[in-house]
Amino acid sequence: MGEAARIDGKAFAEGLRARVAAHAAAFRQATGRAPGLAVVLVGEDEASQVYVGAKGRACTEAGIASFEHRLPAETSAAELLTLVERLNRDPEVDGILVQLPLPAGLDEQAVIAAIDPDKDVDGFHVINAGRLAVGQRGFVPCTPLGCLMLLQDRLGDLAGLEAVVIGRSNIVGKPMAQLLTDANATVTLAHSRTRNLAEVVGRADIVVAAVGRPEMVRGDWIKPGACVIDVGINRLPPTEDRPKGRLVGDVAFAEALEVAGAITPVPGGVGPMTIAVLLRNTLVAAHAHAGLDAPEGL
Ligand code: NAD
Repeated sequence: MGEAARIDGKAFAEGLRARVAAHAAAFRQATGRAPGLAVVLVGEDEASQVYVGAKGRACTEAGIASFEHRLPAETSAAELLTLVERLNRDPEVDGILVQLPLPAGLDEQAVIAAIDPDKDVDGFHVINAGRLAVGQRGFVPCTPLGCLMLLQDRLGDLAGLEAVVIGRSNIVGKPMAQLLTDANATVTLAHSRTRNLAEVVGRADIVVAAVGRPEMVRGDWIKPGACVIDVGINRLPPTEDRPKGRLVGDVAFAEALEVAGAITPVPGGVGPMTIAVLLRNTLVAAHAHAGLDAPEGL
């Protein structure tokens, strides 16, 4: 068998962003305003600042109004909740995202619970987690929804396929398993207490790795021809030729390339999908708020 196909998440995400931009322009024509996303950043976390900057730029490029709220690390819970409530009432704001992690002392769950579930474009509110669990329409976390899009683009109908998701976090693993179940795959949700993980992975037509352990999934675990989605983003220690340290996924890419049918690289696989899906969710929220039919073809 030849080398696995590389799933180009960057190209797919660019296509999705272009489709969102076209719908956003039509929304503006129809309503006289752009869809709006409010992003709240508390404190100085370096990675969070990079993400928030990237989200703002992506919004502008797609014709979505971006409202950034950068608050000092000393912000009190009451101040943060007051801002969230103001954004809940703001008719220009369709989506609200509070960048995590919050500084120590602020209760993330309480802040997420304060967001209007119909503006919760990250899909982290328990109402949206519940909607996903019972198969109602709601907002689904961006990273797993992006993974599902890549899988369906590659494989078409997922019905009856064996899927193994590694990792059971609320933002990736659990919603991923639910999305795959809804798509009629037969799903195993593996985690840190799973026994014989290599053997479990070996059954899978679809492997989604969301663990945060560099190159944990080895090539010889993978069933020949399987489709591998690598969510992990891990930075290896710096070396002389890579002073910033190399980025790797949770899958040993070079090994998996020899066995898998298709695989997402890191970087350039799942990563670019997350922001593209955030824009998509914001557009969907805007249509719902304006009483318009959900945009099609996203
Ligand atoms: P998390 O730390 O919340 O969850 C990790 C999960 O892995 C846990 O459920 C745990 O049970 C499981 N796990 C830990 N050790 C294991 C082991 N030895 N065997 C099997 N399972 C094990 O992480 P997360 O937020 O779900 O993120 C996972 C990875 O995905 C991280 O590398 C993160 O950086 C990355 N991530 C990427 C994106 C993106 O946009 N591409 C988005 C979110 C997360």
